[in-house]
Amino acid sequence: MIILKTDRELAIMAKAGQIARECLLRLGAMISPGVKTFELDRAAEEFIRSKGALPTFKGLYGFPATICTSKNEVVVHGVPGDTVLEEGDIISLDVGATFQGFVGDTAATFPVGKVSPDALKLIDVTRESLNRGIAQAVAGSHIGDVGHAIEGYVKEHGFSVVKDYAGHGVGRSMHESPTVPNYGKPGMGPLLRKGLVIAIEPMVNAGGSEVITFPDMSVVTRDGSWSAHFEHTVAITEEGPVCLTMV
Ligand code: MG
Repeated sequence: MIILKTDRELAIMAKAGQIARECLLRLGAMISPGVKTFELDRAAEEFIRSKGALPTFKGLYGFPATICTSKNEVVVHGVPGDTVLEEGDIISLDVGATFQGFVGDTAATFPVGKVSPDALKLIDVTRESLNRGIAQAVAGSHIGDVGHAIEGYVKEHGFSVVKDYAGHGVGRSMHESPTVPNYGKPGMGPLLRKGLVIAIEPMVNAGGSEVITFPDMSVVTRDGSWSAHFEHTVAITEEGPVCLTMV
């Protein structure tokens, strides 16, 4: 069932989104060689709670932490721990904050120090593919339009989108209908209507699209190639797409 949000609910979701985004940007500023992923997680939980919000991911499906920290070949759902960030790595951070019962969900991939041109290109293409997807998130379009725009842009640059995981509706629950795949056919899939809120989140691999999921929930590329991930929570409105995870 697709749950449309009222304007009042959207205003709360914008606050949740803002907290999640501000958290993400603060973590991004902490990233440098030598930092351990659990340190980012601790800072995230402190920040989110200081804003009167709750860490959405903690305990959800048994996930043990506030954020996901996914380095290099880890696509999503990396578990924070003793993993050390090293010069040349890329690190994807995914943040969820629940404020007054509503969820904001956002992610980005950051370079650690100086990274290779290939890694930078992967980050840039993934970020732009999200922008292309968001541009399609207008009332009267379909979920397939969003995925089609994302995959088309990614393929153009020689990379591949992950198909086993997808974006999602978001609201009082982190995962609501509809599923928002990062591929699709124009005009196909659920209709986008005013009040629908979706998390659009391209996961882009430098190599093949296949992934492996480990028992701790972390997802890695099957071929070991690196992967990037960007995500915004986006509302469909009469005035076009409104990104709720903006500061
Ligand atoms: Mg998400």
